[in-house]
Amino acid sequence: MKKRVGGGRFKLIDVLLTTIIIFLAMTALLIIFADTKNGQNVKSAKSPGAISDKVKVDKADSNFEGIRIITETSNDPLAKFAIQYPQSDSPEFNEQVKSFITEAKNSYLKAMGELTKTDNKKRSELNISFDTHMDRKGNYSFVLKNNETLRGTKKPAEIETFHLNPKTGTVMEIETVFKNESPVVREVTNRVRKTLSSTEKLQEGLIADKAQIRTEPEWRNYKNFALTDKEIIFYFESGSLKDESAGTQAAKIPIEDMNDLLKPEFQVATASADKTDGTMGSKSPSDGKEQPEAGETAGGEDGTEPGNGAGEQPGQPQVKRVALTFDDGPDPKSTAQILEILKKYDAKATFFMLGSRVEYYPDMAKAVKAAGHEIGNHSWNHPDLSKMPLPKALEEINRTRDIILKVTGEKPTVFRPPYGAYTEQLSKQTIPPIKLWTVDTLDWKYRDAGKLLEEVKKSTHDGSTILMHDIHQSTADGLDSVMAYLKGEGYTFVTVSEMK
Ligand code: ZN
Repeated sequence: MKKRVGGGRFKLIDVLLTTIIIFLAMTALLIIFADTKNGQNVKSAKSPGAISDKVKVDKADSNFEGIRIITETSNDPLAKFAIQYPQSDSPEFNEQVKSFITEAKNSYLKAMGELTKTDNKKRSELNISFDTHMDRKGNYSFVLKNNETLRGTKKPAEIETFHLNPKTGTVMEIETVFKNESPVVREVTNRVRKTLSSTEKLQEGLIADKAQIRTEPEWRNYKNFALTDKEIIFYFESGSLKDESAGTQAAKIPIEDMNDLLKPEFQVATASADKTDGTMGSKSPSDGKEQPEAGETAGGEDGTEPGNGAGEQPGQPQVKRVALTFDDGPDPKSTAQILEILKKYDAKATFFMLGSRVEYYPDMAKAVKAAGHEIGNHSWNHPDLSKMPLPKALEEINRTRDIILKVTGEKPTVFRPPYGAYTEQLSKQTIPPIKLWTVDTLDWKYRDAGKLLEEVKKSTHDGSTILMHDIHQSTADGLDSVMAYLKGEGYTFVTVSEMK
C-alpha cells in the first residue's frame, strides 16, 4: 500500500518536475527571442510592411560603429532648416544631444513664428551639423555647430561638443578626461595660452585681454573639446578670443603633449606604435572661420525649375518619361528599401546625397551605385549655398564630391543645391550641371506614405522630375504604389541626366 502510494507520488513528482523543466526552458527561449526582437525594434521603429522587415539595421551599417546620423530638413521657404546630430545606444548620450537640438530648433521656430510676413522670412535659416572624431581608445567626440540666420542677420556660430565611450555607453566631460588635481587645469591653461601665441592662425587678430579672460584656469572654459587620434582640440566661440567676424577658433595640442595631465585611461603611447585606429575621420575643415556674408543673388529659390519641356519628337512613338530623384540620403534602412522597389520595377533613379551621410553610410552609397543609379551631389550638410561666401559654398560641394568619389569610385555627375537655392556665380563654377525638380511631393512635410501617390498624381506629366527624400521611412513605404501608378500610366523611368 505504502509502496504503491509512494510509487504514485514519485510519478506525480516526476511529471511535475518535467513540466517545470519544460516550462522554464520555454520561458528562457521566449526571453532570448523577445530580447533579440526588441533589439531590432529599437533600431527599426515604425517599420510596417513586408519589405522593410527584410532590411536589417545594425551597427555595421555605420562607418562609425554604434553611431547613427539623424538628419531633419525643412524645405519650407518660410522656415528653412537642416539639422544633423548623432545618436547611439546610450540613452544618456542621446538625451543630452537631443535636448541641445530641441532647444535650438524650438528657439528658431519660435522666432520664425514671431516674424510677420513683411519680415522677409525667406532669409532665415537654421543649420546644425557636426563632425565626428575618434581617439585612439575608441572614444567619440562630436562637435556640433549651430549656424542660424534670422531675417538675413547671421547669429554668431555656436559650438557644443558631446563625448561618448561607446563600449560603456558613458557620457564624458572634460573632467572625465583630465586628472582631478588642482594644478592640472592651471597647466591646461598654460598650454592653451602657449598654443594661442605660437600658432600663426590663432595669433592673427587675437585680442589679448579677451583671450586672457576666456582661458582662465576653470574647467568650464574648456568644456568644448574634442579628442582625435592625434590631438586634443579646444573650441572657443565667435568673439571670445578675437573679433566676432573671425568666427569660431580652435586650439589644437598634440595628444602626446598632454599625456601627463590626462587620466591613465586616456593617455597614449608616445612612440608611434599605438596608431591602429588612425584612419577614422578626424578631419574638420570647418573649425576655421565664419566668414561675413557675401553678395547674394539667389537663383531659383523655391526650386521650381523652368519646365524641362515634354521632349516630343516628331515621327516617333511618344514615350512618356519621368525622373525620380531622392535627396538628403543615403540611409541604411529606407534607401535600401527604395533600392529594392526600384529593382522590382527595373527603374533607374537619381540620388542626391549629402556628404555627411555618405561619410556615415559608405556601404549604402556603394549599393546605390552598384544598382546602376545616378549619384548627385547635394552638399555636405545642407546649408543654403546662396547665402554663403562662394569659397565656403564650393568647399561644401568639393568635400562631398571627394567623399562620393572615394566611396563609389566615381564623381557625382549632377548637382542639386539644398532648397534649390544658388547664386549665378556658383552655377558658373566648374561643378556638374545643376538639376532641380518640377514636382515636389512634400514628403518631408507630410511623412505619410499614402500622401506620396496623391501628390505625384496631382502634378506629374511627361518630362517631370519628381522630388522625394530617401531619409524618410514614409517615402520608402509609399514608393511601391507610386511606381505601380507611373508604370500603369505608361511612364519610363530615367535619371536626371537622361532627361533633357
Ligand atoms: Zn535636400
